[in-house]
Amino acid sequence: MTILIFFILGLIIGSFLNVVICRLELTESILGRSHCPHCKALIRWYDNIPLLSFILLRAKCRDCQGKISWQYPLVELATGIVFALTGYYFFNASEFQSWAVTLFYLVSFALLTVVFVYDFKLMEIPMIVLWAGVIWAVLYLVFLDWSSFNLADGRMSSEIISGIIGGGAAFVFFFALSYLSKEKWMGYGDAYVALWAGLIMGWPGILLALMLAFTIGAIWGIILIALKKKELKSQIPFAPFLSSGLILAVFLEKIYPQVEYWYGVFK
Ligand SMILES: [Zn+2]
Repeated sequence: MTILIFFILGLIIGSFLNVVICRLELTESILGRSHCPHCKALIRWYDNIPLLSFILLRAKCRDCQGKISWQYPLVELATGIVFALTGYYFFNASEFQSWAVTLFYLVSFALLTVVFVYDFKLMEIPMIVLWAGVIWAVLYLVFLDWSSFNLADGRMSSEIISGIIGGGAAFVFFFALSYLSKEKWMGYGDAYVALWAGLIMGWPGILLALMLAFTIGAIWGIILIALKKKELKSQIPFAPFLSSGLILAVFLEKIYPQVEYWYGVFK
């Protein structure tokens, strides 16, 4: 039941993220009703149902028959799945802390989805979304440390320190890659996404996220070369791999806490 509620919530948020992505592209306000990008006709409420409308309308606008992009159902479905998994693995209605954790991941994953799609389409990082994510992560880490503070012995967790070390290390690494390659291998924007990822994963968790990101990137690169869509030298946006590697790492750490033994080497 929880999974279904989170899945449907994800579909709805995914639908909203599509609007955010398109309006960021056109630098329009994110308020106001959605309209067809071809004929500008307002979209009827019954044509605006996540996933279903795309299938029922057979990917065409009801007014002008203009094509509806695959981006819409794919982002909705992906957000639905990620939200369902977050609800399943992190949410427990009777535990206050789990509400905070779940809310933190849902917002972070939604923002990461926007960065993923935007960079994939336009090879550019939407900085406003990125900074929103960074601030959100810092607030969450401060909250974790604050809520763990024990008056009796003055102890508290040091999530913020772990986050700053993880984020700082990832930022320096990607910044160096961009600088040394004159932005051929990586862009400076990727360094900021890496900083954000490091805040979320902490140290040494960020290493798992980066390892997954490079693995996904390598597999994707091989597929593109095999399909002859890209040459070895051509540029591929990296933020999609960083964001998917990060999301995967968050779940892996939760499902297999044993991966932390592997980190032991780096501690
Ligand atoms: Zn239309």
